[in-house]
Amino acid sequence: MYYVKEIYFTIQGEGAYSGRPVVLCRFSGCNLWSGLEEDRKKAKCNFCDTDFIGTNGVNGGKFLNEKDLGKKIISLWPKNNIHSKPYVIFTGGEPLLQLSKKLVEFLKLLNFEIGIETNGTMDLPCKVDWVCVSPKDKDNFILKKGDELKLVYPQKKIDPKNFEKLKFNYFFLQPMDGLNLKKNIKKTHAYCSRNKKWKVSLQLHKMIGMP
Ligand code: SF4
Repeated sequence: MYYVKEIYFTIQGEGAYSGRPVVLCRFSGCNLWSGLEEDRKKAKCNFCDTDFIGTNGVNGGKFLNEKDLGKKIISLWPKNNIHSKPYVIFTGGEPLLQLSKKLVEFLKLLNFEIGIETNGTMDLPCKVDWVCVSPKDKDNFILKKGDELKLVYPQKKIDPKNFEKLKFNYFFLQPMDGLNLKKNIKKTHAYCSRNKKWKVSLQLHKMIGMP
């Protein structure tokens, strides 16, 4: 059984694939926070702005097996989009709590490219096409190579310098959302201006009113 909060067609708003059409599949649940406000202070990750509890979002639900979930994902890719290869991103919550080799293989058979956005605390079940790791603690992640490393910035427990030697093709800092967003954008821009390894990632989808 797969527990999915929501699935929808949108554009990737963050990182190297910013602007690319995508079906986003958000799994329910995370291993760094329960998602409940009363648990936020003591959570391992406590700045999350995503609702990943339950299965009640758009196209969310409990999917019996990889075929049921895969077919739902495929159905959301626009039939008239012939300009880009079908692409799905698994996110969460923490997608590696649920992503399986069978689901990846099913979607690959149907010509989908597959990306994940993970906090990096769990191993991949199999190879996927795009791995974006967003650590929340330098000592609490094991996925130390992939396509892009994306740090929410600033974070108390995270110094970007400690990540620069890891094996990623892209290094992004993404301003922490919330009440201090404007200040955080300035801080992120300032840091990236001084440290050429890092590029700014803005959440484009939010700016243009996409989900
Ligand atoms: S690891 Fe990601 S999904 Fe989990 S609580 Fe933190 S920001 Fe939210």
